[in-house]
Amino acid sequence: MTKKKGGSELFKYAVGTLCVLAAAVSAIFAKSSGAFEKNKVPEAENTADTTVEFLDVGQGDCTLVSSAGHYMLIDTGDRDSDDGVLNYLKESGIETLDCMLLTHPHADHIGEAADIAEQIEVKSIIMPLVPEELTPTSAVYEELLDTIEEKGIDFFQAEDDKLSLGSCEVFTYAPEEEYSSLNNYSVLVKIVHGENSFLITGDCEVQEEKEYLKRGIDLSADVLKAAHHGSDTSSSSEWLSAVLPQYTVISCGAGNKYGHPDDETYSRICKYSPKVYITAEDGGILFYSDGKGLSVKTGRKLTGE
Ligand SMILES: [Zn+2]
Repeated sequence: MTKKKGGSELFKYAVGTLCVLAAAVSAIFAKSSGAFEKNKVPEAENTADTTVEFLDVGQGDCTLVSSAGHYMLIDTGDRDSDDGVLNYLKESGIETLDCMLLTHPHADHIGEAADIAEQIEVKSIIMPLVPEELTPTSAVYEELLDTIEEKGIDFFQAEDDKLSLGSCEVFTYAPEEEYSSLNNYSVLVKIVHGENSFLITGDCEVQEEKEYLKRGIDLSADVLKAAHHGSDTSSSSEWLSAVLPQYTVISCGAGNKYGHPDDETYSRICKYSPKVYITAEDGGILFYSDGKGLSVKTGRKLTGE
């Protein structure tokens, strides 16, 4: 009994001390600049029915679009031993992807596609039509084709089209000209949610950028996923001035062997885009959209934590 009483007194002391500490802490925050306002959450986050998340997948691309209970995955990052994207989808409670759009069949974009389609229901897959001489022979690509066939997944070749996902409109554009680089067959995706728009570019290089500029497509967007991991092959001034993004996301791995993002390209992007995020430094970049405004959260790592 004595012991119990002692414990309870200790508890009271601890609570009392915590209250004093809490009061001191809130006094400090109250005195400081006023920038810290409790419960001051941006409107879009409170009212968003749509999110667009650029996952931190190291050297690769992966974007998850969620709108009113519908999900679209654009690229899957490279295959890794952690199954980072697959596990993230599972942990997020996503049992069905309405669509998996693969911008082009390089491993850093389709790496986890087969594993995801094996374990999560994928209603449809969209990929670009590429010339035979550029068709990859990689294991990840072969496995993906096998999985599509085994699972009987609806498969579509990318074309200029308009789809709907929850409360979003999704515009896809496929190149019409012929190119020698597989990157230039990247499907261009524009997601429009009310007044907000996102442009996802795969690894599109300047030649493909020129084609879309020539075709007069409306490239303007609030958020741009910079093409080809911020490489010097992409993001020309003409392109950036047509998009004029408020935010740009560069998806690349820390210390990657390609030197992405390229310094000059990064500076050019900064000229046209007031805010630039790099997944290697900022972690995942999550945009909330309520159709009017955007708010953004950064820092989510796919593995660890
Ligand atoms: Zn790539």
